[in-house]
Amino acid sequence: MPKFDYLIVGAGFAGSVCARVLADAGKRVRLIDQRPHIGGNAHDTRDAQGLLIHPYGPHIFHTNSKAVLAWLSRFTEWRFYEHRVLAQMEQQLLPIPINRTTINRLYGLSLSGDEVQAYLDSVREPREPLQTSEDVVLNSVGRDLCDKFFRGYTRKQWGLDLAELSAGVAARIPTRCDDDDRYFSDTYQLMPAQGYTAMFERMLDHPLISIELATDFRRIKADSDAQHLIYTGPIDAYFDHCYGRLPYRSLRFDHQHLPDVAQFQAVGTVNYPNDHDYTRITEFKHLTGQRAAGTSIVREYPQAEGDPFYPIPRPENETLYKRYQALADSLPKVSFVGRLAQYRYYNMDQIVAAALKTANQLLEPQA
Ligand code: FAD
Ligand code: UDP
Repeated sequence: MPKFDYLIVGAGFAGSVCARVLADAGKRVRLIDQRPHIGGNAHDTRDAQGLLIHPYGPHIFHTNSKAVLAWLSRFTEWRFYEHRVLAQMEQQLLPIPINRTTINRLYGLSLSGDEVQAYLDSVREPREPLQTSEDVVLNSVGRDLCDKFFRGYTRKQWGLDLAELSAGVAARIPTRCDDDDRYFSDTYQLMPAQGYTAMFERMLDHPLISIELATDFRRIKADSDAQHLIYTGPIDAYFDHCYGRLPYRSLRFDHQHLPDVAQFQAVGTVNYPNDHDYTRITEFKHLTGQRAAGTSIVREYPQAEGDPFYPIPRPENETLYKRYQALADSLPKVSFVGRLAQYRYYNMDQIVAAALKTANQLLEPQA
């Protein structure tokens, strides 16, 4: 009899949520990750000065799903936190998503909410259907705001023009006519009170979950004797890139501690759509609520090579992904779940929902 019921590759949200659901149902789980830590890209840790930082970039939890929030709440308390972002625009710092304040300050106006709506209606370029990210932005705010806030940022972040990316990328950012300056619109906006890694530690603290870190699936797959595999890494790597490589976007993170600066910037993140090689600077104290004499920040430099952080949503990539997905569907003893395994630009809560679904389906009695 095999020693484990499930081998799970990847200890990020996708793998860890599956591990816990299956272990709670009495299944024996072997969870591996090639990295030396749990949590995947949501992993957090203390830097040399004791500040809680996110090594793989800022992670803010937000969801509309009560079920996802309730499930995660088994493993963490929460800290109320609504993320706010300013964009450096010429000599000003202006709210992004674009709202009434952004437009009034940028153009030296004092429009009411209704007048902002009328202004946007006068400058927008209606597009139908909304296929690309350029369609989405021009359709909502017109060319000047598009070029100022979106075109340069997108070129930096993806190495592509807005017109080369699917609509869903820019559609993540709403446009508002009121003064709401929160980055996200979700009902629940929270941070795990003791951090993400502490939440993962509790999630994985189960006698039926055995964790092996610094363990690459490619090294152990020949001797893996689990009955079923859950794979949360890049789907094309699983199939040895047999149809060619799926494109991913990577980032270089430049972390810095400023010992003599109590607060570096007014909000959690400042975006730089047009200046500098980096896209944004995040100051972690805003996110974590931690108090300290100094502060820790991170700059994000997008790049083509390196760890795969983002799937790149555009039609030709989706076509290639579908070919891998067809291969995946032909393997009854392997499940693919996660941002890289499903090649979807998913947030953490969407990954939790997908993993809960996958694990619960595996527990259903077979017909
Ligand atoms: P991952 O976290 O990538 O976990 C997959 C794991 O599999 C990795 O740890 C990897 O090491 C392991 N693995 C891969 N291949 C192998 C192998 N061959 N052998 C062993 N292990 C392997 N979401 C939000 O909701 N809010 C945010 O604010 C937010 N900010 C983000 C900022 C950045 C810069 C990035 C990149 C993402 C952000 N996200 C955010 C998205 C969030 O990180 C993901 O939705 C989530 O972490 C994906 O979880 P996952 O388990 O699918 O993948
Ligand atoms: N975006 C932009 N300007 C901004 C913020 C976002 O052009 O100031 C576009 C850009 O293409 C970006 C996408 O909207 O990649 C999604 O932004 P989000 O902040 O959700 O990206 P993430 O946090 O996932 O990197």
